[in-house]
Amino acid sequence: MPMTSFYDLEMTDLSEWLKARKQPAYRARQIFSWAYQRDARSFADMTDLPGALREELTASFAYGPLEPQAVSETEETAKLLVEFHDGKRVECVRISMDGSYTACVSSQVGCAVKCAFCATGQFKCERSLTATEIIQQVVTINSLGERVRNVVFMGMGEPFHNYANVVKTVRRLILPEAFGMSPRRITISTSGVVPAIHRYADEGCPRSWRCRSTPAATSSGGS
Ligand code: SF4
Repeated sequence: MPMTSFYDLEMTDLSEWLKARKQPAYRARQIFSWAYQRDARSFADMTDLPGALREELTASFAYGPLEPQAVSETEETAKLLVEFHDGKRVECVRISMDGSYTACVSSQVGCAVKCAFCATGQFKCERSLTATEIIQQVVTINSLGERVRNVVFMGMGEPFHNYANVVKTVRRLILPEAFGMSPRRITISTSGVVPAIHRYADEGCPRSWRCRSTPAATSSGGS
């Protein structure tokens, strides 16, 4: 049974956990800031937390970037093959363009849509990724040393076949206490799942959330 991942926690979950340990309320923001904005590689690196709390966090939650199974780089891209607890693997890509970085993330292992031009479409959809597994891709790409400014859901999988987890991820990306990204910097690329496009438009999210229905493949896939 894998440990609970830190990235599973919403701010309210972490606040409750901390409250049960009689920690001050501001600790939740402090820990989120270390995790999502300051790219601490471990709880031990969160140096302004009490030592005992760092130890308890370490004993309680899985944390940190994934260990890439393979990395291939060009001048503009770094493509990472990452593996999850059940051995399933996906690719995510850091793209460098005009002085800023973009994370291209996967939302599923394989894809049921089977677009003819896409390598991912040749594989059956084995499962959807959890929000934590998508968030971990961004954390892992940030751990390469340059923080990303944009996130595009153009890796493996049809994002709107994994609607709830994709929306949960986007909410974490734009949460000021977490990644704090501008909604303008997030693009969901879909093969055209029309009911989900309408649902997304009605989520009550900032207007600038974008949803694109033009296929634009990465090297292995891309909705
Ligand atoms: S382009 Fe996107 S939707 Fe089409 S098969 Fe590839 S991953 Fe799936």
